[in-house]
Amino acid sequence: MGYSEMKCPHCGKMNRESCNAWMYGSPIRTCKKCGDKYLDRRYREPAVQGFDQRTTDANLYKTVSIICGAVLVLVYFWYRFTTQNYGYYTNYQVAFLIMLPLALVGCLIQFFRIKSGAMDKANAKYLAESEERMKDRQYVADLIANGYKVPEKYLDNGGNDG
Ligand SMILES: [Zn+2]
Repeated sequence: MGYSEMKCPHCGKMNRESCNAWMYGSPIRTCKKCGDKYLDRRYREPAVQGFDQRTTDANLYKTVSIICGAVLVLVYFWYRFTTQNYGYYTNYQVAFLIMLPLALVGCLIQFFRIKSGAMDKANAKYLAESEERMKDRQYVADLIANGYKVPEKYLDNGGNDG
């Protein structure tokens, strides 16, 4: 969970809203003060734009984990070298020795979440919410008007109330 903030272009009110980590949601927001709609392109509508690569691409985390691991080993030997040969170590070395294992663990957790299908499950929930929004013809029309490439299956959703 996080927060997003955007100034309403109509009345200038700063809208602060809670959002999920990947900002899955409608890019068309409604101002809490004036009730007008405005566009926030940071939001991603999964049914239209697909999922964030960081929630589907396990290899991304594998690569970053390997890089973090390799750099960690190098920093460790650098730290050992300077402490044993010169009797000192630097704040940079300590910072790296703390940050790299954290980054490594974080990447590995994401890697296993994708591999185990936990991430897919979370994505399926976001997609279901997204498809629910896509049932609103006005909403679909608004997305198209804003240049979003809406997949055909959402264009004709059965109604004939034209
Ligand atoms: Zn407003």
